[in-house]
Amino acid sequence: ELELKIGVIGKQGVGKSTITMRFIDERFIEDYDPILIDEYRKKKDFNDKKIILSILDTASSEETIYNIRSWAKYCDSFVLVYSIDDKNTFNEILTYDQIIQNVKSKNYPKVLIGNKNDLFTKRVVKTKEGKELAKHLNCKYIETSAKNGENIKQLFYESALVLLEN
Ligand code: GDP
Ligand code: MG
Repeated sequence: ELELKIGVIGKQGVGKSTITMRFIDERFIEDYDPILIDEYRKKKDFNDKKIILSILDTASSEETIYNIRSWAKYCDSFVLVYSIDDKNTFNEILTYDQIIQNVKSKNYPKVLIGNKNDLFTKRVVKTKEGKELAKHLNCKYIETSAKNGENIKQLFYESALVLLEN
């Protein structure tokens, strides 16, 4: 069986753990808080292939930005997450991208995620800005809501796809 390791990265509070738990459990968990890195496995059928998605949910305090360097090399693909209601989390994406580029390569497989799409009344990062950043990063852009489940399956599907196509 083929195992794909997917690293979920982004500033604290953007919804990394909730996205991961939503995909693994297919429900919304309000108060889930892993401390450092947690790994979750889920078997999936992709067309004819049976694959195991191994998802690394990370905690991203300043201290663990340093840690990204140590575990990113084990990931095959990355999910870069910001929150559409927080400009800061959007601006930080380039920092994470730079760290991963240094560890992996310039064009490592990734998907850019604008999460908390249900908070449209609090939106401060426009869809257009997300798309432009994705274009700059040379990857797909997906808006998700871990709260109502919107596009969560698609995001992991895309993460696997960028790998299987290479
Ligand atoms: P992490 O630090 O990136 O792992 O973020 P968490 O998964 O712990 O989520 C931080 C907070 O945002 C929690 O209170 C979540 O319930 C909330 N949250 C996560 N995703 C969503 C979402 O799509 N919509 C809304 N409204 N809240 C979310
Ligand atoms: Mg977390």
